[in-house]
Parts: sequence; structure tokens; C-alpha cells
Amino acid sequence: MKRFIQLNIFTALMMITFLLMGCSSVMGASTDSLHNQQLDHPPIAVQGAMDVEVSVLLKEMGAYRQETHGNYTYYLGKINKIPVVISRTGIGMVNAAASTALLIENYHPKVIINQGTAGGHDPNLHVFDTVIGSEVMNIGRLTSEHLDAGQGIRPRTWKFTKTEMRENGKIKEYASFRSDPKLVKAALRIADKYKHGKVVVGKIGSTDFWNREVDRILWFHKTAGTSAEEMEAASVAQVAKGFHIPFLSVRTISNSEVSGEKIEDLETAGHYCAEFAIEIVKALGK
Ligand code: SAH
Repeated sequence: MKRFIQLNIFTALMMITFLLMGCSSVMGASTDSLHNQQLDHPPIAVQGAMDVEVSVLLKEMGAYRQETHGNYTYYLGKINKIPVVISRTGIGMVNAAASTALLIENYHPKVIINQGTAGGHDPNLHVFDTVIGSEVMNIGRLTSEHLDAGQGIRPRTWKFTKTEMRENGKIKEYASFRSDPKLVKAALRIADKYKHGKVVVGKIGSTDFWNREVDRILWFHKTAGTSAEEMEAASVAQVAKGFHIPFLSVRTISNSEVSGEKIEDLETAGHYCAEFAIEIVKALGK
């Protein structure tokens, strides 16, 4: 009898294990219904690097299905009946590129919105202002002139270098990547829904560097024309371009060394930007 109970417990545990292996985690909705909806309509993808940049979007979906590819997590659901895939990319250019390639291959999004926090480069931008990135640039792509040993480091002589992409067999060079102009317009049209600061159109610079030197920040602002910096948009835009997927960059300023404020609040800025991204999704779904 004891052996029989042990066997039954074992069978039950095996069944639960198989069930868990067979489906991803589901919150409040049936896996099948969400899965079919995703396959029927290409989703709008919204990316955030960190939890504070995706949590508001997950809350808005309510029910969603979670899938993981490598170490990247995707949340499939709906906002206002519009199919969406929320992607937590992880921080930095490599994570952003890899998770974007996997996003495209697995979910075939019709649009990719990369959103979240950023550091201000433009002294006129204040913490919680939001930048619609009409253009994004890899500001870590630089070439230096030759200097001999002992001649030191001269950052001011470094030159921005274009990104090469192969298109139809030919190399094309990009100084920056553009957000889709229609998406920029759509976001601008609903700018009045953003209540936590002003909304401007600007150029976003991306690199795996958190710059806090005011002279260096102002050098970027002057020579590259950047309004703000972060660590993902340019690599997302580059991958999206390779797959011909319309891209949009939106960032809320979470910190600035040049605005005179002493605030660094990634959590609040992350929430504000995600709230605005929800409004953009709703506008695009109309
Ligand atoms: N692990 C850190 C946060 C990482 S900050 C912590 O918890 O303290 C890096 C992230 O914030 C990146 O995803 C980047 O896109 C964004 N970011 C916000 N302000 C930035 C700035 N001034 N420079 C670079 N990245 C910034």
C-alpha cells in the first residue's frame, strides 16, 4: 500500500514536470488562446532593458505568456486588444542586439519600440522630460589618430565612425539610424498624453558607457548632436534595419549632469516612459 502511494506521488510529480516543461508560465489567461492570437496577428514589440522599464507594460497587459530564449525573456499578451510582445532586453549593446534578433526570428513584430531611461546631453532637457529619438547613433564607434607611446590619450581628436551594413550584397554606411518617420509622427501626435515633463524630438546616442564628465557630455552634444545617452537603441535599430522592421526610440530622462538637477531616478523615469509607450501602442493599434 505504502509503495502504491509512493508510486502515485511519483506519477503525479512526473505529470506536473511534463506539464511545466511543455508550456511557458501563464498569468491569468489560457496559453492556447494567447498563443493563437499571437500567431494570427503580428505583434507590436516594446522593449525595455531593465525590469523598471517593462513592469508597467506587464501590469497593463494583465494576462500574458512568458517565453525565454537564451537568457532573454519575452512576454506575449495584449494591450487594448492589440497583440504585443514585451521584451526585456537586458542592459547594453550586445544584449540589445541579441535579444532583438531573437525577437524578430521568433515573433515577427510589425514594429519595434525601444524605450526606457536615458541620461541628458542637452542642458535644456530636465529629468522626466521625454525624447522621441528620430535618430539613434552608436557613439562608441570611434577611431583615434596615431599617437606614439607616451603621447597620451586625446579624446577630443577621436572621430565618429560610420556603421557598415551589407544590403543586397553592397556595403552601405550609416552615421546613425533613423526611427521610422511615421512612428515618430504617431508618437508626437499623442505627446500631450505625457504629463511628467516636455516631449521633444531628438537624437539618441548609445554606447556601453555611463558618462558623467560634463565636458565629455557636452562634446557629444556638440559634435554628435545628441540629446541624450543610453546603452541600447542604436544596436536595436541596426538589427531592425537589417530585417526591414520599422523602429522607434523613446526615452525619458532619468539623470542629467548638465541640467543642474541632482536627480538619478531610473525607476520613476522607467515607469513614465513605459506609460507613454502604452499610449503609443494604443495609438498605433487604432
Ligand atoms: N545596474 C545599474 C543600472 C544600469 S544603468 C543600477 O541598477 O544601478 C544602465 C541602463 O540605464 C541602460 O539600460 C541604459 O540604457 C540606461 N541609462 C540611463 N541613464 C543612462 C546614462 N546616463 N548613461 C548610460 N545609460 C543610461
